[in-house]
Amino acid sequence: MADCLFCKIIAGEIPSKKVYEDEYCYAFEDIAPVAPVHVLFVPKKHISSAAELDGENSAVVAKIYEAIARVAAEMKLDGGWRVVTNCGPDAGQTVLHLHFHLIGGRPLGVMVSEK
Ligand code: 5GP
Ligand code: ZN
Repeated sequence: MADCLFCKIIAGEIPSKKVYEDEYCYAFEDIAPVAPVHVLFVPKKHISSAAELDGENSAVVAKIYEAIARVAAEMKLDGGWRVVTNCGPDAGQTVLHLHFHLIGGRPLGVMVSEK
């Protein structure tokens, strides 16, 4: 997608701090971390959001979760970690390329704190 921030990051047109890469996904440090570990995992093929997942493209989600588990283990997040995917405006999705936030490195508290 020509105008997609994360497609540009995957292509190397915008710099990022790479954490992990394989044929399906790219992972990099979030520019505004909310915890000691905050890594974004994105499919290399553009998918706008979780709402676009279907039988044709959803296999990449399993691959990404495998990658997340490997990275979490490598980063020794032994106390636990959280994966978040925001979908759509009510959830606060700001970048319209499917992504999974891996957050950890401190106790994370409740998942939804505001009404
Ligand atoms: P969302 O709000 O869509 O769930 O998450 C988008 C995430 O992308 C945010 O956590 C934000 O900090 C991160 N982000 C936005 N622009 C950039 C960027 O240019 N580089 C990096 N590394 N992260 C970004
Ligand atoms: Zn994209």
